[in-house]
Amino acid sequence: QAEQEIQVVFPPEQTLALIKPDTVEEHKDEILKAIQDAGFSILHMMAVCLSQADIEKLYRKLQDKPFFNQLVDFMCSGPCMALILSKFRAVHEWRAMMGPTDPCQARETAAESLRVHFGKDILHNAVHGSSSSERANEEIHLVFGDVCREENQASLLHEASATA
Ligand code: GDP
Repeated sequence: QAEQEIQVVFPPEQTLALIKPDTVEEHKDEILKAIQDAGFSILHMMAVCLSQADIEKLYRKLQDKPFFNQLVDFMCSGPCMALILSKFRAVHEWRAMMGPTDPCQARETAAESLRVHFGKDILHNAVHGSSSSERANEEIHLVFGDVCREENQASLLHEASATA
């Protein structure tokens, strides 16, 4: 009996990644290379100065924390590099690659991660990643919403003129 080959195709997932303001200039290229080496597809990438309102929305679950204002000021202090990453289990894979929130504490274990490598302290920890697939959709919409809408409109216009 001939062996039947079963191919299972896993659907990719998307997540939002941010390279935080103090890390962009010095380490952007190394981080982008690490992302590509790990097998993520970068669907969109842009440098963006997030508004205070957007950052407050991004971190709304932390608004009662004593460090919230410090976090908002830090994330407003310069441009971030924003990326939409795609891969099977992208949310989990990107967070695993980022490592724990506090790079100083994480350095006490041997586990290598982007935050261990590039983070300075618990606030200035180099990178952001969505915490779930639902949050990823919301965060991608928050950061890339207008860009994606403009692109969709541009491609619709292109299609319309091509079929006219
Ligand atoms: P993440 O998902 O690992 O980024 O962690 P959280 O969602 O809990 O926190 C969001 C961001 O707030 C972190 O990435 C840090 O930049 C900052 N942050 C978290 N905990 C602390 C803290 O205890 N002190 C300070 N100063 N910043 C923190």
